[in-house]
Amino acid sequence: MVDLSKYTKQLANLFSTSGNILLICHINPDGDAVGSQLALYHYLASKGKNVQMLSPNYLQEFLKWMDGSERINIFIRDRTACRAIIGAADLIVFLDFNQSNRLGEAEQHVLASGAKKVLIDHHLNPTQIADIIISDTSVCSTSELVHRIVTELNGVQFLNKSYAEALYVGIITDTGNFEHGSYSSETFRVVADLFDAGINKERILNLIYNNFSSDRLRLQGYALNQKMVLLPEYHTAYIILTRSELKMYNHVKGDTEGFVNMPLSIKGIFFTALFIEKDGFVKISFRSKGTFPTNEFASKYFSGGGHLNASGGEYYDTMDNTVAHFMNMLHENKNRFEENI
Ligand code: 5GP
Ligand code: MN
Repeated sequence: MVDLSKYTKQLANLFSTSGNILLICHINPDGDAVGSQLALYHYLASKGKNVQMLSPNYLQEFLKWMDGSERINIFIRDRTACRAIIGAADLIVFLDFNQSNRLGEAEQHVLASGAKKVLIDHHLNPTQIADIIISDTSVCSTSELVHRIVTELNGVQFLNKSYAEALYVGIITDTGNFEHGSYSSETFRVVADLFDAGINKERILNLIYNNFSSDRLRLQGYALNQKMVLLPEYHTAYIILTRSELKMYNHVKGDTEGFVNMPLSIKGIFFTALFIEKDGFVKISFRSKGTFPTNEFASKYFSGGGHLNASGGEYYDTMDNTVAHFMNMLHENKNRFEENI
């Protein structure tokens, strides 16, 4: 676990001297990206700070109930306003990512800004994109790390419900409701603080996991029944979903969340991939069981990255060529995929 005390003074100083603080999460923000961003927002706002939030693109539907989420500026929706917000910031905090290309279209504007930059993240191999890098790959989520930082700065006396709910969302979404990921006894100490703040865990679970359309459930059935391809010789399973298939099921952002994990429940499968057709490229998600390093392959073959067991990337080609590239990756690394876990 990273010793946060060495950053506390510097951070406290930056937070108190900055007039315009901007919190930014990664493109296609997940529960942890939005949760850690909103929690830090609620904390700083409670201290009377002038804080803005920005996401490179839209939030998933199932995160939009979160208190403060409507205040997150969406770069691809309001480019001019977002550029002004970036330009006005004297402190920028990056949450839940460690590579500048995760900023999407906002990247060049953020990099050109003269603001002081702080990075708070739990992904492997941080790049030097900030003046202060608080990276702890041992925590389950950036949300867990944010709570530890806020506690260092302020003790546990600051705990309002919106803050606690946001962090709880980050923790449960990054661990699949405590099913996977690197959660630890420390995670549960953080969760204990959040429970003490009066969060209603049943309500949050329902809003995150039981809040989808019937079309989404049918899309899941279709994906598993009709589209899942098993490659037992590689201990691998993958699912392809095209734009027209998604349209058939009235897909909204966030509907395919979790699909990639499902084939991991099959005996003998330890690597899974989900290919989603986008406009001009394919978005790929990877998951694994055990020690199989999906992020190594995401970064080498699909310009991506992430964690050992959960990563993703992109491929700027047709779906057919993307899957052919994926099959080549399996052939080229046959021995790695043949090993049993
Ligand atoms: P998901 O499959 O849920 O989109 O992403 C899983 C994990 O991989 C997340 O931690 C996310 O930050 C990371 N990830 C997903 N896509 C990319 C990508 O294109 N580039 C990088 N560097 N990380 C990604
Ligand atoms: Mn995360």
